[in-house]
Amino acid sequence: MLEAEDLDRLRAIVGPERLSTGESELELHSRDESHHPPSRPEAVVWPRSAEEISAILKLANSRKIPVTPWAGGTSLEGNPIPVRGGLVLDMRLMDRVLWIRPEDLQVRVEAGLDFVRLNERLERYGLFFPPDPGAVATIGGMVANDAKGIRAMKYGSTGDHVLGLEVVLPTGEIVELGSRAWRSSSGYDLKRLFIGSEGTLAVITEVTLGLSGLPAEFLAAVVSFASLAEAARAVAELVGAGLVPAALEFMDEETVALINKFNKLGLPERPTLFLEFQGSSRAALEDDLQLVRQICAGAHRLETGLGREERDRLWEARHLIHDTIRKAFPKVAGIVVDVAVPLSRYPELVEYAKWALQEHGLKGYLFGHAGLGGLHAELLYHPGEGDELDRAEAANAAIVHRALELGGTATGEHGVGLGKRRFMEREHGPSLELMRKIKALLDPNGIMNPGKVL
Ligand SMILES: Cc1cc2nc3c(=O)[nH]c(=O)nc-3n(C[C@H](O)[C@H](O)[C@H](O)COP(=O)(O)OP(=O)(O)OC[C@H]3O[C@@H](n4cnc5c(N)ncnc54)[C@H](O)[C@@H]3O)c2cc1C
Repeated sequence: MLEAEDLDRLRAIVGPERLSTGESELELHSRDESHHPPSRPEAVVWPRSAEEISAILKLANSRKIPVTPWAGGTSLEGNPIPVRGGLVLDMRLMDRVLWIRPEDLQVRVEAGLDFVRLNERLERYGLFFPPDPGAVATIGGMVANDAKGIRAMKYGSTGDHVLGLEVVLPTGEIVELGSRAWRSSSGYDLKRLFIGSEGTLAVITEVTLGLSGLPAEFLAAVVSFASLAEAARAVAELVGAGLVPAALEFMDEETVALINKFNKLGLPERPTLFLEFQGSSRAALEDDLQLVRQICAGAHRLETGLGREERDRLWEARHLIHDTIRKAFPKVAGIVVDVAVPLSRYPELVEYAKWALQEHGLKGYLFGHAGLGGLHAELLYHPGEGDELDRAEAANAAIVHRALELGGTATGEHGVGLGKRRFMEREHGPSLELMRKIKALLDPNGIMNPGKVL
């Protein structure tokens, strides 16, 4: 419990205007975008520097006060919910671009900057930071969850772009990790330890990112299939043929019908793959599309001549699936399933997820970053009505167990948070103990985002 004296000491660190115990702030920082129940912190602090965070963590560590970093709050597994109360560190005032080195394709930012604003700043240099989770997330939150999104197939995950990190350990020590080199084999890659650590080991304060050049050319294709199995099978064939689309997304027929309705797209309401190729020459992209045509020759419909406007509308619709479901069913909540499997097992996973929806009598939508074997299912339930939530939880668990049986993972990109902790033992076996030892070494008092991951 935070005591009056703790609050006074925190005010002395950040000033009274950057600490709040007000109801509305506590409520705002009690939830993320997931279905997990909210839990309020006792106070919210908005730090402006690593030094302030260091002083806050020293205090919290000595008093064993839980500290949960909070950024965009867009997580989908309860990752930033302060389940043990204590202090929330809202990182959003630390949002400066510290330097841009276009000649090295690198940028250094504070962790609270969101990636949309970062990309606006980078555009004038012809550069961009490719990971795009589809919500307005911060760089710190994306590193902490190792966010991926639709372009990860060609460009990699957030973690793949991290060259260096500044972190503040629970002891208050400020540590620099990594370098500005694109490659390094120098010792243990400690920065990787903090990528995907979900705020349970340290607070990330600054990040050096490697960037990509903005592609000059785009070509998109939409392929509709007669059956779910055919669509899922085509994924492995497309990737196996050596194609590296920037995006290769799957949607089941219900999802296509929904985005048709809300975005006036007129797509055939069938299992569908969206593909996008990006590159410097149109001729090379045309070759890629020719290969897509050959591989998908038996598809129900294949459309490749999409103009820029139509392509933008398609991606906008894809990005907004979660919001569109909310708009279509305002009284309904959803569990967002997030799993990934090896490509050859993707058809089995998709068919199983469809079966699980029916078996548990649920309405739901299937879609995902198919090119990396990723599948999401948004499972709908009426809060507080009957056993719908229990059935949705059961379907979620069944899909996760199936993904693990197929050699996959319980979370492809959303992280463990609260929702996936129960699958950690099954996924990691004895190596989970090693994770516990690392946690105990770095955070012996267990103050950092307690109740998550492990
Ligand atoms: C509509 C929608 C679509 C989404 N689609 C995708 C998708 O396609 N791919 C994907 O990967 N994700 C997706 N997400 C999930 C989410 O956007 C990402 O996980 C994102 O990385 C969260 O970033 P955030 O800034 O909102 O962080 P938060 O949610 O605030 O926090 C995330 C975690 O990081 C910790 N944290 C935050 N900042 C720091 C810091 N500076 N130091 C240490 N720990 C920190 C928090 O404690 C928490 O555990 C989606 C979310 C929504 C709402």
